[in-house]
Amino acid sequence: MYDLIIIGAGPAGITAAVYAARKRMSFLVITKDIGGQAAISGAVENYTGYQFISGPELTAKFEEHLRGFGIEVKENEEVREVRKIEDLVLVKTHKGIYQAKTAIIASGKKSRELNIPGEKEFKNRGLTYCATCDAPLFAGKEVAVIGGGNSALDAVLQLLKIAKRIYLINITSSLGGDPIMREKVEESKVVTILNNTQVTAILGDKMVTGIKIKREGKEEAIPLQGVFVEIGLTPNSEFAKDVEKNQFGEIKVNSYNETNIPGIFASGDVTDVPEKQIIIACGEGAKAALNVFRYLSTKK
Ligand SMILES: Cc1cc2nc3c(=O)[nH]c(=O)nc-3n(C[C@H](O)[C@H](O)[C@H](O)COP(=O)(O)OP(=O)(O)OC[C@H]3O[C@@H](n4cnc5c(N)ncnc54)[C@H](O)[C@@H]3O)c2cc1C
Repeated sequence: MYDLIIIGAGPAGITAAVYAARKRMSFLVITKDIGGQAAISGAVENYTGYQFISGPELTAKFEEHLRGFGIEVKENEEVREVRKIEDLVLVKTHKGIYQAKTAIIASGKKSRELNIPGEKEFKNRGLTYCATCDAPLFAGKEVAVIGGGNSALDAVLQLLKIAKRIYLINITSSLGGDPIMREKVEESKVVTILNNTQVTAILGDKMVTGIKIKREGKEEAIPLQGVFVEIGLTPNSEFAKDVEKNQFGEIKVNSYNETNIPGIFASGDVTDVPEKQIIIACGEGAKAALNVFRYLSTKK
């Protein structure tokens, strides 16, 4: 029986854990991985104190901070259900059931899928959702990045010095994302930007050999060897069935990180707090742990 269970160890969950440790709470972190999306971010240029740091480097620093407190972390464990029964929060994973007085859901977001023919077949066979992890595999190759926002721009920037040619396939009429990133992408000679273009299929035999696109009413195939899907994110909130969410599946929280269920708190990208950034997730994680501490103090 813990005071608190933290679900997720991205920036929000790790920061919540550091604050909970400093408040001497008895708690457990359950997570699929350490670092979350921050670990797959190429260049982080907006985390105060660092003009530039790579996502993996920043995550390593977060992990060092977490490990420094000797915090109990159940890694590679997936939460399947969170429920409040009387005064207890039950957290069910694929390995067991844990109970605590409170929980902080900090499970972030995951990549959206295209849901087109060939996507499932060629996943990890030339098709990937993580440029930071997989860009080096495509040295000298022709690739497509599918998307038009910050994630897609980040993927293109990571591929600039690696791939021979990059097709940036964007379904809308112009690119979104941060102007600084967009300008770097637009200036590059190795990038071909195709706006108003839809990818309709991933082609291949054993590995990806191309994509089928539709633009101006016509379908055509582009031969290439790699596909990076960067079409946005969806919250990892499906396991919290009784918790109230907005139309995007984000968990609704108030300014104390409280959900509609007393004792269940949430923080970071999985919530409806606007703007999804590392520094914001960290701040929200800190707030959530402090608010759990306050909640437990009033209970005693
Ligand atoms: C490519 C890319 C580039 C980015 N670049 C920047 C940038 O330059 N600057 C910036 O500020 N932000 C950037 N971001 C956004 C930033 O990474 C996120 O806002 C931040 O990581 C959110 O933190 P979080 O802890 O809320 O969630 P996440 O980072 O998503 O972490 C969620 C954690 O929960 C775990 N988890 C999920 N589901 C379960 C489950 N069912 N059971 C157990 N554990 C679970 C995950 O394994 C993970 O550890 C970028 C994001 C991406 C994808």
